[in-house]
Amino acid sequence: MSGEERDDHNPWASFDRLMKELEHHYESGARSVGFLGGEPTAYPHIIRSISFAKKLGYQRIALCTNGMRLADKDFLGEALSAGLTRATVSLHSHIAEVEERLVGVPGILKMKLGAVKNLVRARESGQLPDNVSLNPVLNRLNAPSLEAYILFFIAQGINDIRFNFIWPQSRVLTDTAVVPRFRDIMPEILKVILLNERKWGISISFGAIPFCVVPEFFRKHVELLFKYFSEESNDHPTDVGFMSSDEDGAVNRFSLKARTRYDHRMKVSACQDCSLASACLGVWRSYVSLYGVEEFSAA
Ligand code: SF4
Repeated sequence: MSGEERDDHNPWASFDRLMKELEHHYESGARSVGFLGGEPTAYPHIIRSISFAKKLGYQRIALCTNGMRLADKDFLGEALSAGLTRATVSLHSHIAEVEERLVGVPGILKMKLGAVKNLVRARESGQLPDNVSLNPVLNRLNAPSLEAYILFFIAQGINDIRFNFIWPQSRVLTDTAVVPRFRDIMPEILKVILLNERKWGISISFGAIPFCVVPEFFRKHVELLFKYFSEESNDHPTDVGFMSSDEDGAVNRFSLKARTRYDHRMKVSACQDCSLASACLGVWRSYVSLYGVEEFSAA
């Protein structure tokens, strides 16, 4: 959904600054680092960054990527040799027309599937100890084929999928053809949860879906509610460092969870009496502008 051409106004940070940032978090006790936001594999120093993180002592080193460069076995080999332990691929549909429409790149699905194949092979040879996962953005175009999507990727060797409900912003701020209502897609979500509990047994979860839009009969199964709708899954960014383009500028460090809760999402009047309010980060502000508050009620 992001149409921001960030490279135009946020040039890459120098490797020197990146090393300092990795050192800062290592000294604060972090042992897991994820390179994400924009497309980290386009960063000219990404392999050196992974290698430096490993040398410092980070134990879990992840990339969240569109997968285009990982379709190249040589590039993936370099990343693995440098110390990569986990990869999360943003792949939104197993149907070429849907993926292409969503990301606007002709032929993209073929490349992403190549990356998934290379990554699964690497994991099976013991080179990716923290697994390969998919990170699709859940929207009106891919929701009808959720079951087929999951089956398709189970057959490719994937066992970890995190669906994140689309954030209405930028290109799709008011695009109701892409941004669904929660209630429109809930039947598909519940169906795949049931299938997963009964048959598949893989790691599936859904982000940015408030608990109260999940039907009451399901909410009674609290362990299932948190298993599938918790705000944290296998990737849980905590501190984020955002470097300005100014070489001398301070790094803007913030907690992604706090920023999400207080800036990008909001609580509505129903939240005041909600027993799940402390575990819920609220609703996208822009979703409320688009569809109002009628779907939310105290859980
Ligand atoms: S806190 Fe608000 S948005 Fe979250 S589950 Fe409760 S009523 Fe819904």
